[in-house]
Order: sequence, then C-alpha cells, then structure tokens
Amino acid sequence: MVVGCGSLGNELLKDLVLLGVEHLVLVDFDRVEMDNLSRTVLFTPDDVGRYKVDAARDRLRQMNARLEVETICADIIHDVGLGLIAEMDLVVACVDSRWTRFMINRHCMRTGRVWVDGGITQAEGSVRVFGAQVANCYACNLGGKKLTELQRRLSCSQTIRRMEEMGHVPTGLIPAAVVGAVMARQVMDLLNGSPSLQGHMYSFDADTLLGHKVLFQAFDDDCVEHDVWTPIRHCTLTSESTISEAIEQCNTLWLRDDCFVDYLIDRKDDTRHQMMCAGRMVVERMDMMPALRGRLTSDFYQHEYHVVDADFPYPMLTLQQLGIPSGDILQTAQGFYQLRNED
Ligand SMILES: [Zn+2]
Repeated sequence: MVVGCGSLGNELLKDLVLLGVEHLVLVDFDRVEMDNLSRTVLFTPDDVGRYKVDAARDRLRQMNARLEVETICADIIHDVGLGLIAEMDLVVACVDSRWTRFMINRHCMRTGRVWVDGGITQAEGSVRVFGAQVANCYACNLGGKKLTELQRRLSCSQTIRRMEEMGHVPTGLIPAAVVGAVMARQVMDLLNGSPSLQGHMYSFDADTLLGHKVLFQAFDDDCVEHDVWTPIRHCTLTSESTISEAIEQCNTLWLRDDCFVDYLIDRKDDTRHQMMCAGRMVVERMDMMPALRGRLTSDFYQHEYHVVDADFPYPMLTLQQLGIPSGDILQTAQGFYQLRNED
C-alpha cells in the first residue's frame, strides 16, 4: 500500500513498478493540479483535475500491463478500513504531515504491519522503517512536546486537515528522486526479508549531495501506541449494518480515533444545531448550513459520543454514518471484529 501520490509517491511508484512490483494499493484523496506537473513523473496535463490515484494507476499500467492496482480515494487517517491495511505485505508512506505519519504508525501497530516512511523538503530527505517487528515506533521517536501536542489533538478534532493543508512544504526534484529510490530499495529488501535500514535512518542532503545512514531507533515499553489488535474475528456485519445489529453482536463499541457528534449548542444563545456526523465532518457540515457558515467551532459546545452501547439514542444509524469505513476493524467489548466488505 502506497499512501500519498505526490512528487515523492510518483518517484517511488515508478521505481517499484520498474523493479517488478505488480500488486499495489494506492491511497490519496487529492486531485492533480497544474502546479504538480513540474514535479511528478506520472502525471501529464491531461490528468489535471483527475484524482491522483487514478492518473497514477493509468500511467503505471502503461509501464506494466500485468500490474494490479487498487485505488482508494480517501484519507488514510480515518477513511481506510484497518482490515485492508492488515492484508498488506507492507505500507509505504509518501506523505507530508506529522499527523498523517502518526496515524499511519498507529494503524500499522494495531495491524502488525511494517511501514516505510519517506519525507522530503527542497533541500533534504529521509527514509525510515517502523513497526513492532523492527522495534521502531514513530511516536516513540517523536518524544516529548511534539508527541504531547499530537496526542492532545487526538480526542476529536476536525481542524487538523485544514491546518495541515496550510502547512505544505515545497519539495525538491532531486530529494524526491533519491529518497524515492532508497525507499523502493527498502521495500524490496523488506519483501525479501532483509531490512537493510533496520535501526537506522537514511538521510540525504541535496546541497552537499551526501547521504548518511544514522542510528535511529526507539521502542519504549510504556508507549500507548504499541497496542496490537489481535486476535481479529470475522463477523457478518458490514459498514452498512445498523448500530442495533452491531450492538447485538458485540455489546459495546469504541469509535476509533474519532467521535460521533449529534449536535452543537451555540455558546451565546443555547441554540441547538443538528450535526449527526463524525467529528471530522463537523466543519464541512457547518459550511453547508447557512446559519453556521463562517462561524468558529469554538463558538459551540459539541455534544459527542466516543462509545456506542445499548443506550446510544440512534440505533438505526449505520456504522458508515458513525464514520466507520468499509472493511474496518471494530474495537468492542467482545474483542476485535473485522467488518465484511460490501462487495
Ligand atoms: Zn511507540
């Protein structure tokens, strides 16, 4: 699974396909923009406006007609089922936000996956490998203040994507090419059982052209991110099942990494505004409501649920309506249940 089809993702994907990888899942929610074309080997002017995952798939298939590519136009943070991630040989991240990496790390720890991380700026780049099997954790390496800041946002925040969008870093062609190639090599090594970067970070300096391999490993016993979701049981539920069907099977359900918001209350005059959506959707929802458009989320008290049980007042909603994606793994009082895929 390759998460992120920007300039680094383009380089990595091109290399993986040239090296003979024939089964890929691409995850990205962005569309190709004109500005991207000077930094992306897979996109052409005809692709402007298309989803990056679709444009990348089509171009990669021209390179190898046998290539099997599944595309997921979604945000890896909340919208990709953990059951799908659990099926992957490897997860590779070509993303540009700390928050996204933090969440990929969490998903991969829960599902027991190893993941390769690549990051670039205009002047430098780095490659790292994380996972319980290689005793390296992204959160443990963050440490201290950065980790606290990320965990503070975890409970239920809808402003993260906007903040991240504002913080895009310009990237360089050379770091993308070098880091993409090193990542591809790492992927091949890991698939072949010989992780050459284990315990190290590769870093590249585009000014001096020097590459370094430095010690880089942290895996603290008390880190809460190392929670492994196992054993995973299969069940007859899908994301289209109702809450009442789910509660019947699994008694109590914890919403992973987000909450369900049924209404907001205006702090000024106590007016109630119905939301009925996942916490991450609240801002978008407010934008669609003329009375709330342009208002700040801090103007409102948010009524939310993190746990769903027999007392949940909306038993006829579907799991999807709570924000649970297709093929996800439910964390319940009876253990971990993997949802069936609808198709
Ligand atoms: Zn950790």
